[in-house]
Amino acid sequence: MIIKVRCKKCDAETRLSLADLSYNGLFRCWKCKQSHIFVVENDEIKYLKLLNDEKYGNQLELDF
Ligand SMILES: [Zn+2]
Repeated sequence: MIIKVRCKKCDAETRLSLADLSYNGLFRCWKCKQSHIFVVENDEIKYLKLLNDEKYGNQLELDF
């Protein structure tokens, strides 16, 4: 199946092909390289969260 995941950071949409109806693991945005933790259950995204905590993210943005 194909599932669409929208990046929480840059809003880019990624299409992922999953072998099962349920999945949990990492997803990395093709555009901004932001890592997310995501959980799929029965063909639906149940959980999607940025992998880095906010402090770390802010530091990266300042460096950028
Ligand atoms: Zn992104």
